[in-house]
Amino acid sequence: MNIKNISVPFVNFKREYKKIKKEINLAIKEVLEDQAFVLGKRVEEFEKNYSNYLGIRHTIGINSGTDGIILALKALNVGEGDEVITPANSFFATTLGIEQVKATPVFVDIDEETYQIDTNKIEDKITKRTKAILLVHLYGTCANMEDIITIAKKHNIYIIEDACQAHGVEYKGKKAGTLGDISIFSFYPSKNLGAYGDGGAVCTDNEELAVKLKLLRNYGQRVKYYHDILGTNTRLDEIQAAILSVKLKYLDIWNNSRNKIAKRYTKNIKTIKTQTVYKSSTHNYHLYVIEVKNREEFIKYMHNNDINCQIHYPIPLHLQQALKHLGYKEGDFPITENVAKHIVSLPMYPFMTNMEIKKVIDTINTYENL
Ligand SMILES: *Cc1c(COP(=O)(O)O)cnc(C)c1O
Repeated sequence: MNIKNISVPFVNFKREYKKIKKEINLAIKEVLEDQAFVLGKRVEEFEKNYSNYLGIRHTIGINSGTDGIILALKALNVGEGDEVITPANSFFATTLGIEQVKATPVFVDIDEETYQIDTNKIEDKITKRTKAILLVHLYGTCANMEDIITIAKKHNIYIIEDACQAHGVEYKGKKAGTLGDISIFSFYPSKNLGAYGDGGAVCTDNEELAVKLKLLRNYGQRVKYYHDILGTNTRLDEIQAAILSVKLKYLDIWNNSRNKIAKRYTKNIKTIKTQTVYKSSTHNYHLYVIEVKNREEFIKYMHNNDINCQIHYPIPLHLQQALKHLGYKEGDFPITENVAKHIVSLPMYPFMTNMEIKKVIDTINTYENL
């Protein structure tokens, strides 16, 4: 096939499914035969599998990453009057969780090269009310954990990892999601470990927190109809858990193939400013992000060549309409604001073909205005 005639989507999950179709279909069928859909043995099994994979004591399967952030904050008793430090560049759900528990998000600008929370700017934002740092391992590589751990210890505040994009990533040999007090994963279909619907998990080494999280996800119920605390209903379901146990076996392989594609992008695209990775961290290339001068023009050019690019994220958190009440304004976080205007995410998925990769590289290399 002529390279000119192929189109490159942003992601392609059909190929993934094709590879594991038999296993997946069987796993779903077994759940249907059992007719047990909520908090049964598959959820327990997946929780054990994921804990083993991460090297952590407890995984609590829930309905989404967003709910995970809410539950993590609640488990740590973070609520009204408390402040939570968090980066100005992330998916909206990170901050939404803080708002949902009525705590106050306190934004910090990001670092220009790594796009992660700028740890040099955290301590200025710490007050008597600061309860936690809710950091994000953005795009699939770790934030500066060394600094964050030092700061959190010094000021006696919690570390919450939004690891929703960081499945399988390692920092100094330890998995992302095991580096703080509590961590959150999303299994939204497009994540590196994705369910076939919504899903998420909260992970911790702390037994007491784990017990509380299990109550919180299930109406605050310890024994059926006995409600110890005010919880909610946010549970990973059996079908999704069965799917996730199958897909977990392939996570490292698929992360590897994403890394190979990333390497080719970095090596072959002529002029490129892309995300710098901290030496202590690996990358799972959930997203491969570059900066371009004129984004609108670049994306249009790529589209004209049948290549689909996306933006993560076009509007910084502090400038979102829904957060107007926090009183932030344009200019408050110049690096986040500047990056938000220039970043583009390139197509990235396991099973990307050689032709597709080559087409992305060649197309960018013939663009004049990078
Ligand atoms: C996807 C994502 C979430 C939210 O997860 P959902 O499962 O979609 O609710 C939170 N934070 C980050 C950084 C994410 O990428």
